[in-house]
Amino acid sequence: MVAIEEIYDLIDRAHTRTQHGGRDILKYACRNFGGIPQEAYQMYLNLCEQCELKKVKVKKGIVVKPILSSEMNRDLNFNIPAEIAQEVVETTFGSSPEQELYDFGALLDRIQHERSEAERNLKRQAERMLSASNKRLQPVSPGSSVRIPVPNVDRAKVDHRNVIGVVMEAEDGFYRLGTKQGMLPQLFTRNQF
Ligand SMILES: [Zn+2]
Repeated sequence: MVAIEEIYDLIDRAHTRTQHGGRDILKYACRNFGGIPQEAYQMYLNLCEQCELKKVKVKKGIVVKPILSSEMNRDLNFNIPAEIAQEVVETTFGSSPEQELYDFGALLDRIQHERSEAERNLKRQAERMLSASNKRLQPVSPGSSVRIPVPNVDRAKVDHRNVIGVVMEAEDGFYRLGTKQGMLPQLFTRNQF
């Protein structure tokens, strides 16, 4: 079993090496490391400042929430129930499916239960991932000036790699930042500035 900090570092290095490649590229770059949970890749990507900014550019107006994006929920809805359903069917009906045990209500309850369990685990893991990411960086208190990197696409307008911002609020590892142009709509994690 690999510690969450190690997983974070392994993925972090692979991600930098592939110059912010997407999930499949990242998985491929990490193929030789055992013990990395599949969800860790998407969690990592959701925490990556540059990749998040790229996404924001595409989906205009959507607030950045680094953990548990809708993309991840989509994965959850597609992947997990199918596996769980199969497992549940096997456990419920076992080797004697001819028996009158087809209690679909119970089956659905169980699937629902396993699914919310999986969601809870995923959320817990995302939180640990976030704290692993934050632990490497010092927290910043409200009122501090910070440099906010500007994504390549916006640089022509701004002409600088960074803009100066001020931490307006800090809560649970998320920061609200203000700039000369006003308050930024999205919340930032400590690794994003
Ligand atoms: Zn990235």
